[in-house]
Amino acid sequence: MLLIECPYCGRRPEIEFHHGGEAHIARPEDPDALSDEAWANYLYMRANTKGWRHERWMHAAGCRRWFNAIRHTVSNEILVTYEMGTETPPLPTVGD
Ligand SMILES: [Zn+2]
Repeated sequence: MLLIECPYCGRRPEIEFHHGGEAHIARPEDPDALSDEAWANYLYMRANTKGWRHERWMHAAGCRRWFNAIRHTVSNEILVTYEMGTETPPLPTVGD
């Protein structure tokens, strides 16, 4: 079983968490100014990265707080978890 480090509660089994998708997607400053296609891209289009990426997670069966993680999408390894609003750690480079 995958163990995930909640930044608030500590290490817990994965069944306590919900995956929230890609992290750090900036909301458009003026959504009314966007075309329907641009708005749909903001809402639905994601990078679908193979490798390390920033993700949002929620500790649903615990503190119910959202946090971010760097997870490898192939190996499922979680490199680090960090609180929302804190500095974003860089993604590992190839070979890390
Ligand atoms: Zn928690």
